Amino acid sequence: MRVWDGISNGRIHFSAQDFQQPMDTPMAWILENLNLHRAAVKSLDQMSDKVELIDRTKVVNINESREVVNSFNADDQSACPDWPVVQLDSGRMLQTRLLVGADGANSPVRKYSQIDATGWPYPQHGIVAIMELAEDTRPVTAWQKFLPTGTVAILPMPGNYAALVWSMEKEYVPLLKALSDDDFTCVLNAALQLPFEDLHYFLSTLKAGSVTADHLTSDLTNRLTTNAANVTSPDYKPPVVNAIEKQSRASFPFKLQHADRYIDQRIALIGDAAHTIHPLAGQGLNLGLADVESLVAVLTEAARLGQDFGDYNCLLGYSSARYFPNLAMLGAVDKLQKLFSTGNEPVAFVRSFGFNMVNSMPGFKAWLTKIAMGQ
Ligand SMILES: Cc1cc2nc3c(=O)[nH]c(=O)nc-3n(C[C@H](O)[C@H](O)[C@H](O)COP(=O)(O)OP(=O)(O)OC[C@H]3O[C@@H](n4cnc5c(N)ncnc54)[C@H](O)[C@@H]3O)c2cc1C
Repeated sequence: MRVWDGISNGRIHFSAQDFQQPMDTPMAWILENLNLHRAAVKSLDQMSDKVELIDRTKVVNINESREVVNSFNADDQSACPDWPVVQLDSGRMLQTRLLVGADGANSPVRKYSQIDATGWPYPQHGIVAIMELAEDTRPVTAWQKFLPTGTVAILPMPGNYAALVWSMEKEYVPLLKALSDDDFTCVLNAALQLPFEDLHYFLSTLKAGSVTADHLTSDLTNRLTTNAANVTSPDYKPPVVNAIEKQSRASFPFKLQHADRYIDQRIALIGDAAHTIHPLAGQGLNLGLADVESLVAVLTEAARLGQDFGDYNCLLGYSSARYFPNLAMLGAVDKLQKLFSTGNEPVAFVRSFGFNMVNSMPGFKAWLTKIAMGQ
């Protein structure tokens, strides 16, 4: 993974060599979310004797059993009155000893349990797309450039394809989304290959509306032809983007959000329902997977001891194992976001110094990589 600061000369190169491994040893894995979903659903299908999978369904309501007892099926009324009842849009109702809220940043389960969440929106939104690169780069490398408008990340996919996650000040997002695929590709190459001033000039002029996008992109094309080779050094040359896959561009708002607590009686929040983080360090899903691992361990132990695993006291082990590690990662990534969102020269100088110093310390880089991998 090659990370560099678009304002200063700071660079960090993470590789298997930091772990005294040959260069072509994988140090991390990038999976498309869709593949994870498919694998999870396949596993659930194989457990159909124990798990009922209900898909294409929305949870429309969550209540306590005692609130819905009149409309409830007689068999299930034997359960405790504090058990949550989930109502599906089909009208079906499910009563549960433990309701796990894995329902994302706007979690209905969190709202039902009246757990507050604190945080703030970031001034940047993320533009995502699938890109076709000019060449299949080996060894497989992820690239990330820090710019004051936000980070540009190229995450490799099979062949010469890659995923784009481009954080951008939100005022520019509709303008960039309105560009044709070819114009957008040109601006993206400028963000990756040219000095920040070129991108800044493009964005501010496009926003002012005084010059057409066509005119501005042909100017950028000229600059890319004449300047790019001088700006990027041969050993630090990000791949050129050939094209953007049709209709693959989308945008997402970014926010930091942390639930005040992860558990309540018969409730456990996991993943983005509990915490939402800026994706610049690619940690959102990793934190959620660590939550799952921890909750499974706590529930397994409670089941082994014959305890009521929906009980608040049983769930405490999960909450205490995950709350502070997640809080620390949320805080660290938030500070990184703020540190890199400034073009202020003294800050950029210190940043550059920090980058280059970390780059010269393989042991420290290996430690950072292990933290990012949740090890
Ligand atoms: C642009 C971008 C790039 C990212 N890049 C990375 C990365 O590189 N690495 C990484 O680790 N993380 C990354 N993340 C973060 C990662 O995507 C999230 O942390 C992760 O998807 C959270 O998973 P989750 O299952 O907790 O929540 P979600 O993915 O939000 O899933 C919640 C699910 O609950 C369902 N749901 C909600 N309400 C209801 C209801 N009433 N009834 C039925 N279903 C409901 C939703 O439909 C959804 O399927 C990125 C995020 C963004 C926005």
